[in-house]
Amino acid sequence: MGSTPQVKPRALLVDLDGTLYRSAKLFDDVRERINDYIINVLGVPAADANEVSGRLYRQYGLTVVGLMAENYGVDLDGWHKHVHGTLDYAKLLPRNEPLKELLDSLTMPKYIFTNADREHADTCLRLIGIQDCFDGIIAFDCIVDRARELTGNAEGAELLGQVFCKPDRRAFEYALGRIGEESAGATMFLDDSAANIKGAKDAGLQTVLVGSESPCEGADFAIEVFTGLRDAAPHLWQ
Ligand SMILES: [Mg+2]
Repeated sequence: MGSTPQVKPRALLVDLDGTLYRSAKLFDDVRERINDYIINVLGVPAADANEVSGRLYRQYGLTVVGLMAENYGVDLDGWHKHVHGTLDYAKLLPRNEPLKELLDSLTMPKYIFTNADREHADTCLRLIGIQDCFDGIIAFDCIVDRARELTGNAEGAELLGQVFCKPDRRAFEYALGRIGEESAGATMFLDDSAANIKGAKDAGLQTVLVGSESPCEGADFAIEVFTGLRDAAPHLWQ
């Protein structure tokens, strides 16, 4: 574990999937739909789908970014509909009152910072019952919209040059800009991905790994579940 900062952060950037809830079934369902899209829409042989999606996810941080980068001809809106549009969210995501209470007791501004799309984030937050706990949502759509604006609705490589996601350093800089925070060190980032935690630490943020009590590289704190934050980082409430 790195040196533990005791400076109270002015804002929190909080990942969604795997951080504010964990659902093996939902992850399996998403993975199944991703593979289905790759096979049936993009025409990748079924035998290769797992390998392709896994490799793109590891290499680019987000399978869909890899599909764009490697010119698979992915249509973003179609992708989101296919991957998230048919999930049975209501069955998979119960309300979480203790989590809501914990978030409500933290007085600094809090933002969702997810590589997933906005609609997915809205749905999850609503079902868990924590949609009012956040001051904003920074989702993958925001970054794509920004890229489209910057490039005058370019496609392909030109658009992709402006598309990024966690753990790319640009994603953290973009998020800090969005919340109007100039000091990375005054912002705390919470995520269940070791790669994202390392990226955030490289960008200068305070970091909390969620989902494991064994810290990864770049983690200031590591907690099994989000509500463990109160014991791990009591200075957030001081
Ligand atoms: Mg996550």
